[in-house]
This record gives sequence, C-alpha cells and structure tokens, in this order.
Amino acid sequence: MPTLASEKKTTRPSARPGRPAPELIFGDLWEFDPAPETADPKLKARYELFINGEFVAPKSGKYFDSVNPANEQKLAEIALASAADVDAAYQAAKAAYDNVWSKLPGRERAKYLFRIARLLQDRAREFAVAETLDGGKPIKESRDFDVPMAAAHFFYHAGWADKLDYVAPGRRVAPLGVVGQVIPWNFPLLMLAWKLAPALAMGNTVVLKPAETTSITCLKLAEILQDAGLPPGVVNFVTGAGEVGAAVMNHPIPAKIAFTGSTEVGKIIMRSLAGTDKKMTMELGGKAANIVFDDAPLDQAVEGIVNGIFFNQGHVCCAGSRLLVHEPVAKEVLAKLKNRIKVLRVGDPIDKNTDIGAINSKEQLGKITSLVASGVKEGAEMFQPACKLPTKGFYFRPTIFSGVSMSHRVAREEIFGPVLSILTFRTVDEAIEKANNTAYGLSAGVWTDKGSRILKMSTELKAGVVWANTYNKFDPTSPFGGYKESGFGREGGRQGLLDYCKLV
Ligand code: NAP
Ligand code: MG
Repeated sequence: MPTLASEKKTTRPSARPGRPAPELIFGDLWEFDPAPETADPKLKARYELFINGEFVAPKSGKYFDSVNPANEQKLAEIALASAADVDAAYQAAKAAYDNVWSKLPGRERAKYLFRIARLLQDRAREFAVAETLDGGKPIKESRDFDVPMAAAHFFYHAGWADKLDYVAPGRRVAPLGVVGQVIPWNFPLLMLAWKLAPALAMGNTVVLKPAETTSITCLKLAEILQDAGLPPGVVNFVTGAGEVGAAVMNHPIPAKIAFTGSTEVGKIIMRSLAGTDKKMTMELGGKAANIVFDDAPLDQAVEGIVNGIFFNQGHVCCAGSRLLVHEPVAKEVLAKLKNRIKVLRVGDPIDKNTDIGAINSKEQLGKITSLVASGVKEGAEMFQPACKLPTKGFYFRPTIFSGVSMSHRVAREEIFGPVLSILTFRTVDEAIEKANNTAYGLSAGVWTDKGSRILKMSTELKAGVVWANTYNKFDPTSPFGGYKESGFGREGGRQGLLDYCKLV
C-alpha cells in the first residue's frame, strides 16, 4: 500500500490549456513501500567461456568480477578470454559452418530459433532480474521491454529462415560464413538478440563478445542454446574487455564483423579492417533531436521527451538527448518537464516502482558528471529534482539544461546519461538545420499536429529513424541504423537480413 511521505496536504498541480503548469511542491510525492522483484535470477558463482557448445575455462585461468551497479556488490566471476580462446571459438564456428549449419535447410534452422525464443519466454522473469542486477536498468524495463523484445527478435527471424528467397526479390541469397560480433552494455540481451537472430536465420555461425560489465545474460543465453540443442560451434561467446573485442574484430576467419558501441571504438575497428574484404555493420553513437512544435499535444510530448531521455538512465544510443522546442511553447514545455521529473523515482532498479535505476558503471557515472559540470561552466541553466539517492551504487539525478546553445558540449557530445539539453527554434528550417547540425544521425522525433510537417521533417532529417508523435518505439520488423558517424548497415527487418548475406 502506498504511504504518504509527508504529512502536508497534497495539492496536485493541474495545468490549464496555454498556461505553464504550476510548480509542484517537493515532498508531496506519494512514496510506495519497497516492491522488489523476487524471481530468482539463478546466477552461477562463476561463468566460463561458451565455445563449441560447452562451457570451458579460459586458457589463461583468469577471471574478472561482474558487479551490481545498484549496490557495488559482486555478482559473479566471468572468464577472461585470451587471443587463443578467441581463436578456438573461431575454429569451432568455422567447423560448425562448414559441416552443419550452412547445410541445414532454412526450415530446420527456423526450428532452433523458435525454440530459443520459447525458452527465453519461459525464463523471462529470471532473465529480467539477471539483466537488472548486472546492468542497473529498472526491472520494469528489463521485464517489459528488453526480454520480450529479445524473444520477439528470435521469433521474427525464425519466421524468415524458410523464406529467404524473398529477402532480395529476383535474386538468390547465400550466407557469408562466420561472423564476429561485439556489443555494448546498455541493452545486453537485446543487442545480443539483434546480432544473433538474423545471422543464424541466414545460415551464418557466430563468435560474439558482450561488454565487460554485462556478460551475465549472454552466458545465461548460452544455457538456453544448449537446451535448444543448437549444434555445437554455431554460436560461441568469449568474454573480457576491449582487447578481447579487438581480437574478435581482427581475426582472419570472419567474413563479416558487426559492431555496436561508441563511434570512437567503431573508428578504430574500421581503420584496422580497412583494405580487407570483410563486410561490416557499425551501429554507433547518437545525439538525437526531439523536436516539439507549438501545435503538438504538449502533455503527450512531455511524456515522449521523458521516455526518450530518461528511459534506461539515458543509456540509449537513440536517446532524445537534445530537445528542440518551438519558441512560443518553450516556457510551458520547460515547466511541464520540471514538474514531470520531480516525480520520477530514482533508486534501486530491482524495485518495480523505480523509473530511473543505476548508472552502469563508475566510469560512466564519472563521464556523465564531468559533462554535466561542463554544461554548468559554459553557462547553461541546470535543473535537477531534489530526490534522495541511495548511498551505495552509481546514481545520477535526472537533469535538464535550458538556455543551451549549439556550441555547448552538452549539445554536441553524447552524454549517455539522464541529461536533457533544451534549445529553441522559430521556423521549420531552423529546426531542421539545428537537428542536423551534429556529427551523428541515428534518430529523431517530431511532435506536431500536421501530417505534412511530419513528412517534410522525416525527409529532411538526416537520421536513420524518425519517430512522429512518439519516441523510442521498436519492432523487429523495422530496420534500425545510422547516418554519418552513427554508422552504417541496418539491424531488423528485411534490410537487416541483407547485411548478413551475399547475393548470388
Ligand atoms: P564502447 O566502449 O565502444 O564498447 C562497445 C563494445 O566494444 C564493448 O564490448 C567493448 O568492450 C568493446 N571494445 C572496446 N574497445 C574495443 C576495441 N578496440 N576493439 C573492439 N572492441 C572494443 O561502447 P560502450 O561505452 O560500451 O557503449 C556505449 C556506446 O554504444 C554509445 O556510444 C552508444 O551510442 C553506442 N550504442 C549504439 C547503438 C546503435 O544501435 N547505434 C546501440 C547501443 C549502443 P568492453 O566494454 O568490455 O571494454
Ligand atoms: Mg555488472
């Protein structure tokens, strides 16, 4: 049952059309009793590498800790792969490709993908808890978004596996061979599904490295691959930090490499692979503009803006981290946003009421803190609610900067945290120019009542995804990917499959 935090009488603010919402007096927030998710994440004390269908100890005998960023406690030990382990993984993937997987008809591969999806659904709560403990995202997100969406990607690609003649109408497609994949920590299981499902549906085999701070759900998925009876070597997981990623990317066996992560590391990989004939997909950083016009339904837009940047602590490549707001409604939108973020619950991610969980690591918290300090120093006006943060763990208050100009670092650099920078515009052309004035081009949002304006904006915005009157919506059928320094290649949909095959 909810209990009231303060004895003061609560007056809920109500906005009248055209007027800024009244200030909410802090302390009026109803507090809920703790409601931790109780499903058992079934963690092992130690996770080995997954090579050739088996869990194997790393050749070096070395392990590193995975910690819970919500309280800094150790969760498990993870094997540290060496170059020799990466090589063993690639040899297994090559043998599996040559002898088994490339010879199976698509309808047989589909059965494995269906099985993986079903087994993941069966263990959905357990996976959601493991994802939240290891990565820090609120349980309501891992439970309602990450895990179901990961299963949906396996289902979707299972459906494609026996229909590959329709991927490129009029042409025949063939798998590429072995693919090497490296993924980041913000959506560990979902990025894994985005990478594995299309590769397997198309008939490729895989060596993948998850991020150092979030390897657990990847290695739990290996248990599902075993239970699904996936032939040994079709999927191999090697764990460790950046050097292991570099070994996965630079090995001679893979015909294709797929990377999701920062633009900085993407560029290093592209440089090292320049001149080879390897196919590449790069899903890199972003600095999306969420653009609100004066005819937009403002309350709905405020929800979309909040979802766009504070969802998953802003650890989202396509986060709407820049708000471009039409001048006539700028004050009203700012007042509504301030009211809204005062009632976001920041705290233990395993609690079902938590809106903003833990920042993934100490390093990431340091990066956010220093970029926010630069915003203050450069003269932008900062607003943070006065919410209490847990004393242990890595947390950051939702933060809004107003009075931001295009030259400020908070308007240009990817912060990858719960920080929104607000800029204003007067005309459609100014909005387009400001939105496109970035090295990135992953996503954008447009809020307006006019369909014609949505069509114009989505044509002119240099962004791989443009959401209209909504934000951060995903579907396996819909391709996702970037322009400019946000990368190239697409994941999801028919287009995503094209990146895992050759036309013959
Ligand atoms: P990151 O530092 O680039 O790391 C991504 C992955 O690459 C991790 O597994 C990392 O290992 C590994 N890695 C590090 N150095 C490497 C190297 N020299 N060679 C090969 N692999 C290397 O990115 P992050 O900080 O984890 O993730 C956040 C970034 O990912 C943001 O920029 C975000 O925008 C981007 N992202 C993009 C998309 C998209 O679809 N476009 C989706 C999600 C995230 P360790 O972490 O284990 O050291
Ligand atoms: Mg962790």
